[in-house]
Amino acid sequence: MKNDNENLMEKIVSLCKRRGFIFPGSEIYGGLAGTWDWGHFGLALKNNMKQSWWKKFVDSRRDMYGVDAAILMRQEVWQATGHVANFADPMVECEKCKKRFRADQIEDKIKCANCEGKLGEAKQFNMMFQTRVGASEDSSSISYLRPETAQGMFVNFKNTVDAFHPKLPFGMAQIGKAFRNEITPRDFIFRQREFEQMEIEYFVRPEDWEKYFEYFKDEMLEWMEEVGIDMAGVHELEVPDEDRAFYSKKTVDFEFDYPFGRKELFGLAYRTDYDLSTHKLEYIDEEKGEKMVPHVIEPSFGVDRAVLALLISAYAEDLPTGQAGEKGDEPRAFLKFKPSIAPVICAVSPLLKNKPELVEYANTKVFAPLKAEFGRVAWDDNGNIGKRYRRQDEIGTPFCIVVDFDTLTDDAVTVRDRDTGEQERVKVSDLISYIKNKF
Ligand code: ATP
Repeated sequence: MKNDNENLMEKIVSLCKRRGFIFPGSEIYGGLAGTWDWGHFGLALKNNMKQSWWKKFVDSRRDMYGVDAAILMRQEVWQATGHVANFADPMVECEKCKKRFRADQIEDKIKCANCEGKLGEAKQFNMMFQTRVGASEDSSSISYLRPETAQGMFVNFKNTVDAFHPKLPFGMAQIGKAFRNEITPRDFIFRQREFEQMEIEYFVRPEDWEKYFEYFKDEMLEWMEEVGIDMAGVHELEVPDEDRAFYSKKTVDFEFDYPFGRKELFGLAYRTDYDLSTHKLEYIDEEKGEKMVPHVIEPSFGVDRAVLALLISAYAEDLPTGQAGEKGDEPRAFLKFKPSIAPVICAVSPLLKNKPELVEYANTKVFAPLKAEFGRVAWDDNGNIGKRYRRQDEIGTPFCIVVDFDTLTDDAVTVRDRDTGEQERVKVSDLISYIKNKF
């Protein structure tokens, strides 16, 4: 028997596939472990999260500089930072079935969970994907797919300082892909081999690090709440010395209560002057008239984990009220996204799709102006109204707008609220402001 948490994950994974959010990578060839492909609605949700992040941490500030660095970098970058030597997880292999496990994630360190064979000694397994750049086969052509976006910012520290002359404290921000050859990718999009990060490197005077560490902790929490992550499920954990990444002097993990356990959502690290020093970079502090190496506070967000936490926070079920036009006792599933984050803000339907006068009105007087205003507007005339509501509920569309026969005479439409199922009659000329007011 599956427990409620396993059921919840299954429901979310299946909804994501059915409704075009997230698909297994390379599925028609049997799948590629640790990769997922984003469909139209998942992509819209993910883009909204990224935009909200960029707006808060870059566009609304004066001290932040964006970067979009190449994923491939010279191998010297990763040698200098210690990733080539140290970016590894402990791995054990079963002597019988050869299955590999992350040694720190299994309870039984002796017996294989797959075949009960004997597990070998733990070895360090480097998680960087190695590749070659150019046609040459010698070792100078070795490169790596970046395992974090952070270094793309550090290697552009000098360019940024030279181009913009920022004063301390200031930050660099980047959203982009990162790759880790995880030993056991699992839990849907939680642990993947290809994923996205949103990271900030914030450069401060050494004596100020604690102040900015606390400041970004609050900013991170504020953003989580803003996008709609259930804050009752978010917990702070100060990472003990032995578990911290090799470059960090203090790390706080924000953990989330996923259905598969309390696990890391985002991290906040004090990276000291480790990275700038290893790249032999420095800064001229004009105020003090001296050369110095700034220290770094790094708020690090996983885009995919943010989306997963939001899906879990937003997923709800209830019994239909009847009011909303649904029939039967099957619970309806819906995603309670905020309008600002929802992949679709509103869906427009003519009551009957074989009545040209309704279709014409819905199309030209309702759908077209809403689409021009909000972009994320869906046309839905498939099946009966009850089915359309069910579909839009699963996509998380906050408002369903129906054009009926009365509309033709009173220029008003029915707007149905996703969460309550309540319906309101709204003048077509007031629709845009009605929806804007709900943001
Ligand atoms: P974990 O301990 O879960 O492996 P980590 O501490 O190694 O994660 P960081 O190096 O701090 O992760 O990476 C920053 C953020 O990137 C994480 O907080 C997480 O949101 C995201 N992230 C890291 N690894 C993965 C992955 N394999 N799949 C999806 N997101 C990831």
